[in-house]
Amino acid sequence: MSTIAFIGLGNMGGPMAANLIKAGHRVIGTDLAPAAVERHVAAGGVAGASIAAAVAEADVVVTMLPSGREVKALYGGAQGIIASAKAGAILIDSSTIDVDSARAVATDAAARGLAMIDAPVSGGVGGATAGTLTFMCGGDDAAFARAKPYLEAMGKTIVHAGGPGNGQAAKICNNMILGITMIATSEAFVLAEKLGLDAQKLFDIASKSSGQSWSLTTYCPVPGPVPTSPANRSYQAGFTAAMMLKDLKLAQDAARSAGAVTPLGAEATALYGLYAAQGEASTDFSGIVNFLRGK
Ligand code: NAD
Repeated sequence: MSTIAFIGLGNMGGPMAANLIKAGHRVIGTDLAPAAVERHVAAGGVAGASIAAAVAEADVVVTMLPSGREVKALYGGAQGIIASAKAGAILIDSSTIDVDSARAVATDAAARGLAMIDAPVSGGVGGATAGTLTFMCGGDDAAFARAKPYLEAMGKTIVHAGGPGNGQAAKICNNMILGITMIATSEAFVLAEKLGLDAQKLFDIASKSSGQSWSLTTYCPVPGPVPTSPANRSYQAGFTAAMMLKDLKLAQDAARSAGAVTPLGAEATALYGLYAAQGEASTDFSGIVNFLRGK
């Protein structure tokens, strides 16, 4: 059993912390929202008096925060995670943040001799609750090996993507593919409608042809062909348009910073920006098919 400080007990962090408790760990939780801490205590966790106090006791620190701004703020400073951590503690940031911030925080942790990995996830709230998340990890081999048993209590697939920041790089590259293929798939279904081609027929053919992708065969943006896709429940999320937009913006930031040419990523970012701004930020990201249809 280890003592774990868990910071950020929101939609994802709450159930992830609950799975660490179920695995037998003592989990000291903190969050700005008192209700989140109350839920953590009800699940068998301990309420931290402050971030510094929780971290000072912990063998492992896990953070699950909204963005790079919060991650940089909470890891840095005199009362921050890096300054407060015990010698020998392992730091795991599972938030989805920009690659540059992830690398900057890892450098600061290393300067204090602390092991750290970035470990963003895919799988959503369902995966966080079921303990079946995929973790994409960046950090050195020793840090990854030490973090892995804790990640296994919260996820099913744990992948080491390389050095610091590479977990974030893997996450945003994957989600840039996803955003682009969802728009491409949606455009094809809208065109098929206009041409009088039945959606099921297009699905049957494209899913066995070179148009095949996860956006088509697992998450089909029109109702019917894939009964479990959000299209069959009025595009209730799932993965919201706002989250897709966040990840596409992170990919664009990274592309600018690294000098990569990503014109389709840029176009997908613009389209998801327009779609979200129409009051659809909380709608599933596959609902962009309705935007493309002009409805
Ligand atoms: P959330 O907003 O529900 O949770 C974030 C939590 O952090 C909140 O409870 C908030 O109060 C807390 N917090 C913010 N600032 C804090 C501070 N200074 N001190 C302590 N607590 C603080 O968000 P979420 O959906 O749990 O997402 C968390 C991260 O996971 C994000 O980076 C998101 O992009 C990523 N993610 C989310 C999903 C999903 O489906 N929700 C899927 C994959 C990845």
